[in-house]
Amino acid sequence: MHPLAIRRQAQLEHRNGSSISSIAVHLDLPYPTVHRWCRNEGAPDSRFTEDRCFRCRATAPTDQLQYAYLLGSYLGDGHLVTAAKVPVLRISCTAAYTDILDQVERAMLATLANRVQRIRQKGCVNLQSYSKHWPCLFPQAGPGKKHDRKIDLEPWQRAIVLDHPAAFVQGLFHSDGCRTINRIVKAGRTYEYPRYLFANESADILALCGWALDLLGVAWRLNRRNSLSVARRDAVALLDRHVGPKS
Ligand SMILES: [Zn+2]
Repeated sequence: MHPLAIRRQAQLEHRNGSSISSIAVHLDLPYPTVHRWCRNEGAPDSRFTEDRCFRCRATAPTDQLQYAYLLGSYLGDGHLVTAAKVPVLRISCTAAYTDILDQVERAMLATLANRVQRIRQKGCVNLQSYSKHWPCLFPQAGPGKKHDRKIDLEPWQRAIVLDHPAAFVQGLFHSDGCRTINRIVKAGRTYEYPRYLFANESADILALCGWALDLLGVAWRLNRRNSLSVARRDAVALLDRHVGPKS
């Protein structure tokens, strides 16, 4: 192996959690060498993401649209584990929706991640990225489930959604929403109406979805305690422009 490749391999293993001594043994290298290579690596991605974290830089995100989309995806089916040594952002996507998978990955890369891992599970793929700075960007993170705690947006997050409500709504519907066909039989004839549903156990997240739909001028109603429906023809047509069927 090329010396640079060995060094990269050692750093990769370290980022993935292997200890310096085990890497030294595994790659048959002196401990001080591996230590020198890895000591500044620190936490996964930390060398680079600090520069990229728009909260720590106290600037607006480079790509607000991507952040708005990622925020919607995170509130829908995302999970930010802050208990680990290095926080990890995980967003679950249905494996069959390959376009959505790519779109979420692009949003993670555009926002902060240098690398996104795809972890396959039964029928779904977890997109995950490690960085100390994910909690700066998603201060809603906390212990337990999202519907068991208050979820509110910070003023700076609201400002981004106000500028990009469509991207936020798209992220929400791509994760916890769907476009279905409602069939109604009237006088022997079948009528089909498309409608959108967004289901989430958190009343706060449902309210945020409703707020963003209001910003877009999309009519909606709560059809169940934990679900919101967009069924009016003009409202569905508007959402078709912003969200569309999952793929
Ligand atoms: Zn930060």
